[in-house]
Amino acid sequence: MKDCAVRRAALNRMNDLGLYLHVPFCLRKCGYCSFYSEAGRRDSSRWLAAVIRQLRQFFSPRPLTSIFFGGGTPTMLPPEVLRDLLAECRQHFFCAEEAEISLEANPATVDLSALQTLRQAGFNRLSLGVQSLHDTELRRLGRPHTAAEAAQTAKLAQQAGFANLNIDLMCGLPDQTLQSWSETLTQALALRPQHLSIYELTVEEGTPFAQQQKEGKLLLPDEDAALRMLETARQMTEEAGFHRYEISNYALPGCECRHNINYWRNSDYIGIGPGAVSCLNGMRKSAVADAVEFCSRIENGQEVWEHEECLEPEAAFRETVIMGLRMTEGLALDELRRRFSIDAAAYYGETLARLTKQGLLELADGRLRLTAQGLLLANPVMAELV
Ligand code: SF4
Repeated sequence: MKDCAVRRAALNRMNDLGLYLHVPFCLRKCGYCSFYSEAGRRDSSRWLAAVIRQLRQFFSPRPLTSIFFGGGTPTMLPPEVLRDLLAECRQHFFCAEEAEISLEANPATVDLSALQTLRQAGFNRLSLGVQSLHDTELRRLGRPHTAAEAAQTAKLAQQAGFANLNIDLMCGLPDQTLQSWSETLTQALALRPQHLSIYELTVEEGTPFAQQQKEGKLLLPDEDAALRMLETARQMTEEAGFHRYEISNYALPGCECRHNINYWRNSDYIGIGPGAVSCLNGMRKSAVADAVEFCSRIENGQEVWEHEECLEPEAAFRETVIMGLRMTEGLALDELRRRFSIDAAAYYGETLARLTKQGLLELADGRLRLTAQGLLLANPVMAELV
């Protein structure tokens, strides 16, 4: 293993520490999904024993500032199992008093009683995978719920005491129009969430959508139409009091997702479960993305890591720049300099000057950030800085 002392020292200056726990089960696979999860109800007891053993292998003297149960569909598991798993996390790690504790849920996988159990267990943020509030679009995506069920689950979550609710939405969907997208946004905002994650559909290799695209059976809105949808989202969320704090994320003031901000700051996090990634003390490791193999390795006392890497300080610096530019507040250059001993302006030299002159990046108050135009062209801009 390489000596990661430089990167370790750099990263230790960042205070937050997140814990991600991957629940790799879903009711069925959505046509666009490339995340690791397995479809169908299954006995999760073997997986459960394995993740508990894995999390006991970690040690950190630093308190967790966020916990995120994601997937997959964590709410495929009974609420009592999720409650006990969260208790296990809190017992094993020291957890900051004000820690953000998120749970991903899909509509129609939880009822009021389950949501009450989860809220009482200590989950204080619920992230609901809604995607669209049009049944035809939901069917086309292969989502296992209706728009009415999604809206009902959001209301039940609030009734159960979740005062920090995120709704995930997607635009650029097959057969979606600007009007149907505006209707989805209007209905989503009417549910009074504190946070919205809004992503444009991307067709990932190996998914049913990729196959349909090859066969000419996937008709997506063109690039201009997708941009108009994103711009509509920006305007409507702003009018509703949300601020865009990351390329795809909007929040009411104070409700930004602490767990994800920790990723965008390229800070430390622990990943538990098959396919989960840990980045701790300068090492990034990803566990094998196969539940059976993951369980076997844990049971046999073997390493679960499939990939391990230690980024050199310069690579870590560039990665931190790319991730940090995702946030609208941008990057504090003096913080970057302290963390990596690299001056961003000198490092990127002419490239930075050109992107600034083109109106895609701006340097103000000691921070480097994407402009409004740069946010629209984030991928090509970042490609120049990577
Ligand atoms: S529910 Fe989420 S994780 Fe599961 S298949 Fe659909 S998109 Fe993927």
